[in-house]
Amino acid sequence: MATTSEPTVKPQIRQTECFIGGKWVPAASGKTFETINPATEEVIAQVAEGDATDVDLAVEAARDALERGPWGKMDARDRGALMHKLADLIEQEAEELAALETLDNGKPIRDSRTVDLPLTIDCLRYYAGFADKIHGQTIPVRGNYFTYTRREPVGVAGQIIPWNFPMLMVAWKWGPALAAGCTIVMKPAEQTPLTCLRMARLAQKAGIPDGVINVIPGYGPTAGAAIVKHPDVDKVAFTGEYKTAQIIMRDASATLKRLTFELGGKSPNIVFADADLDAAAAGSHFGLYFNQGQCCCAGSRLFVEEKIYDQFVERLAELNRSRRVGDPFNPETEQGPQVDQAQFDKIMHYIERGNQEGARLLTGGHRVGQRGYFIEPTLFVDVKDDMEIAKDEIFGPVLSVLKFKDVDEVIQRANNTFYGLAAAVWTRDVKKAHHLAAKIRAGTIWVNCYDVFDAAAPFGGFKMSGIGRELGEKGLDAYTETKTVTVSLD
Ligand code: ADP
Repeated sequence: MATTSEPTVKPQIRQTECFIGGKWVPAASGKTFETINPATEEVIAQVAEGDATDVDLAVEAARDALERGPWGKMDARDRGALMHKLADLIEQEAEELAALETLDNGKPIRDSRTVDLPLTIDCLRYYAGFADKIHGQTIPVRGNYFTYTRREPVGVAGQIIPWNFPMLMVAWKWGPALAAGCTIVMKPAEQTPLTCLRMARLAQKAGIPDGVINVIPGYGPTAGAAIVKHPDVDKVAFTGEYKTAQIIMRDASATLKRLTFELGGKSPNIVFADADLDAAAAGSHFGLYFNQGQCCCAGSRLFVEEKIYDQFVERLAELNRSRRVGDPFNPETEQGPQVDQAQFDKIMHYIERGNQEGARLLTGGHRVGQRGYFIEPTLFVDVKDDMEIAKDEIFGPVLSVLKFKDVDEVIQRANNTFYGLAAAVWTRDVKKAHHLAAKIRAGTIWVNCYDVFDAAAPFGGFKMSGIGRELGEKGLDAYTETKTVTVSLD
């Protein structure tokens, strides 16, 4: 793929080191790793490769900031004001941050501009408003006692994030942690460390005290595992694959850390014959191919009612054929490259499996160009429930379409997975919509829409798609401890 377009603001690579106690420092080992532009496969920058030694220093800084620095003593409302300031600074640099995100992740610039940046800013503002609204209760107990609860920060929060929405995941994690008064040791994904590091610089500029936010770029089994195992980290919030969460759960068991997980999915998207089919086709296309298919909630199992199946898959194929794949800096581009070679190889493997297992390939199936990790929007129809492409999370632009006949059948098949992150239903029948919303075991149900996110709406998984919820007031639960205080009035 030729990448000819220039961003309107050329992103500067300013921060590439570890951010510990307010200082930019190389990894103690002196090691660095390359972060790659997935559109060109060229190296963008060398980034400090933190490991356990750097994590130790970061945790020490975070503990110190929590217990001895100004953060722990600050009025909650002032904490909120600093978070608002951070959101304002991100907004001022939005164009450059969007370009940096596109450079490091490969997502189309129009998505970085209109999705990632606005949602990031909104999430920080939403939680800024919560900083002074986290409070306990007074509780009527038996006897002559006055009992009340306090909601205190859980402490030092370890946060490990993936590469698909690098900046937005920072906001989802920092927002509730800062509002609750925690301090943070974050590890961004090794594929996409740059915007997280820039946000740490902006947090410092906003006046968030040194040591409150620490960032250690590096790899999962070294830097990530060191955060999880550290006895002075009180909680770990992780977004990524369920297999990694299983390792984290084991590693966290020695210190019985509080854990919240937002993991993968194989989300059912169900289209009934009575739906607005134009909207359903556009929504199903978007629900899978948005962000190159690299969404944990991607609607990757599309169930279409038998009566409309043939016409509906033809509409989907049309949409795929006109999807603009290419240079992510071209404002017209709808689909950029996958994030790296490993993801590219994994997706191509699943396309091969789909063909071998006898699914019918209606569009795509190939690489685009010779440079960069671009893959055609791929559509498999006549997929059967037991095929690998219907069961495994592919995390790429590969949609599997399955046929169904009636409501009970589709509910049973939709639930026949160990995942439970999200689902969608397309119908004009209100009763049917609410029936499915109640019966499908998933943390989010969209009706006649897909991928509608809001900082105020809780998000997370049933079953093996996660533990706990992020966003909304619920998202604060993971960052507070409830303390009960009882005073004798005798
Ligand atoms: P993906 O396959 O999408 O990259 P992962 O679950 O492997 O998803 O990665 C998500 C995040 O978890 C990344 O920041 C990665 O470095 C980190 N990670 C990977 N392995 C571990 C581990 N053993 N312990 C802690 N963090 C890890």
